[in-house]
Amino acid sequence: MTDTEHNQPPADAAERRAATPLVCYEVDQLPSSNLSMYQQAREDMQKVAEVTVAPRDGATFEVPAGSLFRIVSVEGPQVGDLNLWNAHDLSERFFSGKTRQLHATHVSTGDRLWSTLPGLRPMATITHDTLDWYGWDADGAGVHDVIGTRCDPYTNYMLKGVDYHHCCHSNLTRALATATDMPPSEAELHVHDVMNVFMCTGFTLDTHQYFMKASPVRPGDYIEFFAEIDLLGALSACPGGDCGSSHSDDITPCYPLLVEIYQPEAGALQGWRSPGRNGYSGTHGL
Ligand SMILES: [Zn+2]
Repeated sequence: MTDTEHNQPPADAAERRAATPLVCYEVDQLPSSNLSMYQQAREDMQKVAEVTVAPRDGATFEVPAGSLFRIVSVEGPQVGDLNLWNAHDLSERFFSGKTRQLHATHVSTGDRLWSTLPGLRPMATITHDTLDWYGWDADGAGVHDVIGTRCDPYTNYMLKGVDYHHCCHSNLTRALATATDMPPSEAELHVHDVMNVFMCTGFTLDTHQYFMKASPVRPGDYIEFFAEIDLLGALSACPGGDCGSSHSDDITPCYPLLVEIYQPEAGALQGWRSPGRNGYSGTHGL
């Protein structure tokens, strides 16, 4: 917002400001996320794989549709930047902006991570979040935002004039390039706005600027997702660590993150079907 002189408010300014806010989408009309089925699926699930994400680095993981995955805090408070793709078509990827519009600025159990247009379908549903007690604090902050983009070397260079290679954008790029044998210049084009796992953020009450504060996550905390479609995921252990002081440097203490993949018991998913792509005709009136 401009900090220069403002125009004089019109005579009916108070009346204009008093318009009633409307939540943009009728989210109660979204396809049901059937939480009781997910809770049953997670009761007797077995861990089938795990991937450790090293501090200030990234790693990929695959989750078949109908499986679950957890992102677990280990060793110390650490924020993770999550990317998700359709494992068979990288052009369909996590759509943080639409997820924010359909749910909220921060997500937790029962919320879904939606894919980009024209697919627009749930890629994953959050089935458990050990930080759901946090809610909204006195600064207006919450945990697990879908607001921020990801720390990146371009913004860092613009602000500081130095090259730094371990921003989340680069960590995700290296991880995807390694997993797919793409050159980094191609892989980076698939890296997208993230879900900020465990990150504690909000907008300042006076200027509405995006802020971060030390994450409340502690070792043993986790957030768990049900994969609605076959997923390729990438996770970066942000160089900001708990994001309580700085980012895009090697100063802050950083810790690994663990990704665990779980398979539900046979028969636990009765009645569940992987969602298809969005049903819009795609003709755009032509
Ligand atoms: Zn980061």
